[in-house]
Amino acid sequence: MPQIDTAPSMTPLENVRARIKSAMAPERISGDPLLLAVSKTKPSEAVQALIDEGQRHFAENRVQEAQTKFPPLQQAYPDLVLHLIGPLQTNKVKEAVALFDVIHSVDREKLARALKAEMDKQGRDLPCFIQVNTGEEPQKAGISPDQAADFVALCRDLGLQVVGLMCIPPFDEDPAPHFALLRVLAERNGLSQLSMGMSSDFETAVQLGATHVRVGSALFGARGRGDRTYKGCV
Ligand SMILES: *Cc1c(COP(=O)(O)O)cnc(C)c1O
Repeated sequence: MPQIDTAPSMTPLENVRARIKSAMAPERISGDPLLLAVSKTKPSEAVQALIDEGQRHFAENRVQEAQTKFPPLQQAYPDLVLHLIGPLQTNKVKEAVALFDVIHSVDREKLARALKAEMDKQGRDLPCFIQVNTGEEPQKAGISPDQAADFVALCRDLGLQVVGLMCIPPFDEDPAPHFALLRVLAERNGLSQLSMGMSSDFETAVQLGATHVRVGSALFGARGRGDRTYKGCV
């Protein structure tokens, strides 16, 4: 890993951007991976500070929380892009389709059907990622790797705009094999986008071809201990 200038004058956003760049360099990766700023549990003021630095892609994992923060920001910044990265209940699909621009967590038929119906109703055609449970963890959302091909086909048949795959590797494992598996599954299914990598492993994800990295704490600081969203929901 080349030495990175982490001068104190660098903001966290500048630092993460620099680390993405340097992870790309040795792999000769072309096309900048998109940095999604994961603002869950953080106040609007923190989002605003990153907007002021030029960040436009944000991600949240709960519909309700995002609803309390983002509508005024979306009004003020029409080029803001909001990504849903957390599990989606079918009873929240209506709100999710109205609020978000990209969905990263499509993982079951019932949800895929509900999303398609609601998008038709609202006249929106949101890009969707299929979430794959690469570690086959029982408590984690996502389609199992051996069902990914069938599920991608089903979503396409429904008319969803499937753009890529997303994964959250097991907490206590080397993420690299999971990222590599996700990439293989995407290639096999003709999908070009890979949503993978978080604060602790986004450089590895970039080296393995991530097109979207989802970075929270490295940009916004650690979340509180009582935060269920981290280990509980991902
Ligand atoms: C919280 C979260 C992230 C970001 O986690 P950090 O470790 O804070 O970067 C990424 N992806 C998902 C799905 C998350 O829920």
